[in-house]
Amino acid sequence: MCYILRFVIPFKRPAPILLILLLILAPAGCQRQPAPLVRARFLLDTLVTIKSYDVDRLKRSTLDAAVNPAFGRMKTVERRLNVYDKKSETAKLNRLAGRGDALKVSADMWMALDASKQVAKLTGGAFNPAIGPVTRIWRFGAGRRVPPNDELRRALEAVRPDKIIMDSEAHTVRLGLRGMLLDLGGIAKGVAVDRAAEVLRRRGLKHTLVTSTSSTKALGPKPGGQPWLIGIESPRPKRRPGLIGVIELRRGSISTSGDYQRFFIKHGRRYHHILDPKTGYPAGGFMSVTVVTTHSAAFADALSTGLAVMGRRRAMALVEKLPGTGAVFVDGAGKTWVSAGLKNKLHELVKRVK
Ligand code: AMP
Ligand code: MG
Repeated sequence: MCYILRFVIPFKRPAPILLILLLILAPAGCQRQPAPLVRARFLLDTLVTIKSYDVDRLKRSTLDAAVNPAFGRMKTVERRLNVYDKKSETAKLNRLAGRGDALKVSADMWMALDASKQVAKLTGGAFNPAIGPVTRIWRFGAGRRVPPNDELRRALEAVRPDKIIMDSEAHTVRLGLRGMLLDLGGIAKGVAVDRAAEVLRRRGLKHTLVTSTSSTKALGPKPGGQPWLIGIESPRPKRRPGLIGVIELRRGSISTSGDYQRFFIKHGRRYHHILDPKTGYPAGGFMSVTVVTTHSAAFADALSTGLAVMGRRRAMALVEKLPGTGAVFVDGAGKTWVSAGLKNKLHELVKRVK
């Protein structure tokens, strides 16, 4: 019954007569598509899913032999980058801050810092991998305390991305100031998704999607060149799952950052986990930002975090200049904004989130 699926999320809104015709004709001409292989694990503090339509090209055993190491690779990224794990490379670098010792780092750490620096530059410092001293004070998920301004001001003095010293020949990193703390929470999922995709591609998978809720990467389209349909979560759903739109993705990455992913409400105000490096307080003027790009998932992940901080006007102006990249921005009033290049890939967009 493949036509049922086809009408759950229509690609375009066909005229009603065409719709009825398709409904009648579809079952007769419809080649049954084999069910995809779907595997899920709890990793990186979220549910990670690998979905593959390579089932008719490759044997189930080949697929399983690719999927398990891909999850394993993501676990390695998590172990290396997670600031809350005392044994991680991030924690080691943080302990060495200001001591003059450089640490030889893994390719994952290098990739994370390299992409972070690139996105930090693009966003004028809105994405800031050295935000650790401030995120440590807020302790999202654990504390419900709103820190006073002077405490945040003091912490901001140690937020110095210019003091992340990378030696590309020796592959070492050093944090040049005592009290500095890296926090790669804004890019780690993207790095993990990229690494999983590398493993899957090396093992011959093509029509495959890796998704860790907020970060997604398509290795290629579904069989026959059909796009994957990726829902954009509503930042204020009346019931779950609530979507504000659906994006077509054939190849590339998507990332969403939102004020609804980790937050608490105090005295009627929402305090969330994406912090403005200028003030130390949660970024205002947005509910969510979704980036769609032909570039890496790491780039998409860092960029969506940075755009959230920049605010709608500056964020959308930047996106319009970036090749192969588009965005859907939900502003503080719930209004949705779509970059020019994305309009024909987006369906069922809600104009205002209430
Ligand atoms: P994401 O969900 O990818 O937007 O990332 C949010 C996470 O990134 C937070 O939980 C922090 O760990 C970290 N973070 C918060 N503010 C920033 C910022 N301005 N730049 C970079 N990382 C940040
Ligand atoms: Mg991010």
